[in-house]
Amino acid sequence: MVPERLPRETPAVPESMPVLLDRALGAYLGLAIGDALGATVEFMTAREIRHRFGVHREIVGGGWLKLDRGQVTDDTTMSLALGEALRDAPADGVDVRRIAESFLAWYRGKPVDCGNTCRRGIRRYLNDGSLEGPANDGDAGNGALMRMLPAVLATLHDEAAFERLAIAQARITHHHPLSDAAVLGIGRLARTTLLGGGPVEQSAAIEALVRAAPAFRFDPYPGRATAYVVDTVQTVLHCFTQHTTFEEAVVAAVNQGDDADTTGAIVGLLAGARCGARALPRRWLAGLDREVRRVITDQTTALLARSLGHATLAA
Ligand code: MG
Ligand code: MG
Repeated sequence: MVPERLPRETPAVPESMPVLLDRALGAYLGLAIGDALGATVEFMTAREIRHRFGVHREIVGGGWLKLDRGQVTDDTTMSLALGEALRDAPADGVDVRRIAESFLAWYRGKPVDCGNTCRRGIRRYLNDGSLEGPANDGDAGNGALMRMLPAVLATLHDEAAFERLAIAQARITHHHPLSDAAVLGIGRLARTTLLGGGPVEQSAAIEALVRAAPAFRFDPYPGRATAYVVDTVQTVLHCFTQHTTFEEAVVAAVNQGDDADTTGAIVGLLAGARCGARALPRRWLAGLDREVRRVITDQTTALLARSLGHATLAA
C-alpha cells in the first residue's frame, strides 16, 4: 500500500527516509500519539467512553489532567528523559546513575503526571542514591514498561545490551518479575518489528513472551486495562494482534479506558514500529505537540546512531 503523502507542515517524516529510521520514528511518534489520544479517557470505563464519545478517536486534550490538545503525559516525557540520558552516553558504557539523574530532573520539572511507584523510586534515589529497590509486590505496575522504547533504540543491534539496559532502567523504580518480563518481552517484540520482522517473527516473539510469563496469556482477552502490568500487556497484545492498521489498534486500546494513555502509548509504539512514521494518520501527527514531535525526531536519529556502537553498561 502506498502511504498517504504528508502535508508540508509535517517535515518530521521526509519521503526519502531510510526504512529503519521510518520504523523507529513510527514507534516513538506512535507512543506519543497513543499517549495524547488515550489521556483524554484515562480512568474512564469503556461504558463511560461509549456514552460520552461513541468511539473516542480524536486528539482533543482534556481528561482528568485537563490537558491541552496534543499534550502528552508521563508515558512520553519519561521516555524522553530516558532517551536524553542515553543519547550522548559514551559508546563504551551507559552509567545507570545518569538515567536516574535524568528521571530526577524530570521529576523536579513538575511533570503533569507521575505514578506512585515512579515517584517512590525517584525519591529513594534522591534520598540514598540507590539505583534499585528491593523486590516488591507493589511494583507490578506498568511504569517501567511504558518508558522503555529509548533502551530498545539505543541497543538495536545488540540483544544482550538491550536486556541489561532495559532491566537497569526499569529497576530504578520497579522491581518485580512481571515488570521485568513485560519490559523484556515487549521490548523484544519492538526490536523484532523495528529490525524488519513480519507477522511470523512477531508471533514468535509474542509466544516467547507468554511462555516466559504465562500470566500474560491474552486469548481469550480478559478485558481489563488497568495499570497492573498484566492487564496492560494483555490489552496491548490483544489490540496489536487483532488490528492491522495503526489507527484501529490504538483506537481499540484507548476505548478500553482505565489506563488508556499507557495502553494507547504501548500499542502506538508497537503499531508505529510495524507501519512506520510515513503511515501514521496525518491528522494525529499534526495534532501532536510540536516541541514533543521535534524532540522525538531528534532523539530517534541520535539513538539509532548510537546503536551502531556497542552499548554496554558500566560496572
Ligand atoms: Mg500517563
Ligand atoms: Mg497512564
